[in-house]
Amino acid sequence: MPTTALYRDDFYLSTCEAVVTAVHEGGAVELDQTCFYATSGGQPGDTGVFERADGSKIAVAVTRHGETKDIILHQLAEGEALPLVGEKLVLHIDWPRRYKLMRMHAACHLLSVVCAYPITGAAVGEDESRVDFDMSETIDKGQVTADLMRLVQENHPIYVQWITDEELIANPGIVKSKNVRPPVGMGRVSLVCIGENSSVDSQPCGGTHVSETQEVGAIHIAKIEKKGKENRRFRIRFGAPDASV
Ligand SMILES: [Zn+2]
Repeated sequence: MPTTALYRDDFYLSTCEAVVTAVHEGGAVELDQTCFYATSGGQPGDTGVFERADGSKIAVAVTRHGETKDIILHQLAEGEALPLVGEKLVLHIDWPRRYKLMRMHAACHLLSVVCAYPITGAAVGEDESRVDFDMSETIDKGQVTADLMRLVQENHPIYVQWITDEELIANPGIVKSKNVRPPVGMGRVSLVCIGENSSVDSQPCGGTHVSETQEVGAIHIAKIEKKGKENRRFRIRFGAPDASV
């Protein structure tokens, strides 16, 4: 049964009420609505807890999509009690973890601005993220870090604009990812825009991001690895660069 994905319209929603619509063997739970982000686009799904009416808690190990994008499965941790269909729950995502992922995800977008090459892969993590670029040039990681931190400090707004599938297909140039199918098929596509009137960037993306670049905080490029002749893997970490490396 389709689940209303409340996180699509409010990235900062850390808790909400929901009703259980299905419980699958193996402990995957479907709800009428959810604030738990489901794994996609390189961003890992949310973890957290469901709170029952009696105050007891059920741990959620991961959130992922089912066979289609409108199905959201909350996979319970092993050994957790199963809720009942029709039961009302209060959902709480692991907010400190999600917030780190939102900061990191926004940082990945900033990197794609600083390093304007086609993206061949990306994975957002709470401690480290990586972005792969189709490029053969050698780039100084200290310079990339300085450029990233300038965008962070300029504190540009980050917001979502919805466009239709047709608009995206008519403007293929806005998709920076190479070999990745544009996120069409839901009727509408979210464009993540950075800066007033997208002055810094705009990119189709269904993930969750902080609402201004300053929230990303201190980040740096820890490593740039050569992955083949025309591929460079950038690793982003929180904090200031380690002077000893
Ligand atoms: Zn994104």
